[in-house]
Amino acid sequence: MKKKKFGSGLLQVEFVCPKCGKKLAWALPTSEMNCPKCGTWVTSRNRKVENTLYLPLDSDQMVLFA
Ligand SMILES: [Zn+2]
Repeated sequence: MKKKKFGSGLLQVEFVCPKCGKKLAWALPTSEMNCPKCGTWVTSRNRKVENTLYLPLDSDQMVLFA
């Protein structure tokens, strides 16, 4: 039987522009990206959090925590 360890997967967060609300992309929390609509730099510090996605490494399944 396989044991699942916490932290063995990849955690991704949805980057949403805090200024115009545009959904940019799913990425690691350490990422930062530039909103193509209003030019705001969105980082894990100022992004608008809507969802967090956990991607287990041993599975193709994606688990969405809304
Ligand atoms: Zn924007």
